[in-house]
Amino acid sequence: MILGSFAPDEGPRTVRRRVVGSLVSSTFALPGPAAPSIPEGSQGQGDTGTSAHEDPTMIDDKDRTHLERCVELASDALASGHEPFGSVLVSKDGDVLFEAFNEVGGGDATRHPEFAIARWAAQTLQPDDRAAATVYTSGEHCPMCSAAHAWAGLGRIVYASSSSQLTQWLAELGVAPSPVRPLPINEVAPGVPVDGPVADLAERVRDLHRRKRA
Ligand SMILES: [Zn+2]
Repeated sequence: MILGSFAPDEGPRTVRRRVVGSLVSSTFALPGPAAPSIPEGSQGQGDTGTSAHEDPTMIDDKDRTHLERCVELASDALASGHEPFGSVLVSKDGDVLFEAFNEVGGGDATRHPEFAIARWAAQTLQPDDRAAATVYTSGEHCPMCSAAHAWAGLGRIVYASSSSQLTQWLAELGVAPSPVRPLPINEVAPGVPVDGPVADLAERVRDLHRRKRA
């Protein structure tokens, strides 16, 4: 099943993959340094800037596989001169429908992967399919993308790292604050089910931001 066609103004750096069928997790050999070893039970501990949400993150192995892909896409974005963020749209049946990574390096600061997903879904999927789909992302949606997600009528969001973590990390790296307030998704879109962060994956995202500013 090939889903739709894409706008002609999308440049060659744009990640646009339509994948048929479920992903096979064993195919994900991530490049780059190995993830830091995180002892069992340490999730939410330490200095990773975990937000006030201390509830155990409700993710399963499939969620983790998609989040690992998001981190890989974030690494690809970094390698392409952009900010390290990546996102995946997954159908109710577990099919990866669309992937995108951040593309702000060209000067358009709205080129966020979550925004691209919301627009693609609105143009391509029926409302029921949007509502049943899940968006996985390396970093929690910003308010712009949370709003786009909600306007598109998309379903659950799962993120590897939170906006509060990102805010803390960037402050530690001496990066000027964002012009947009880093509100949690549910402050903008109260009806969206949200899970995250995931401690060891968040550390990998943090490393990407360190590399961006190194
Ligand atoms: Zn955004």
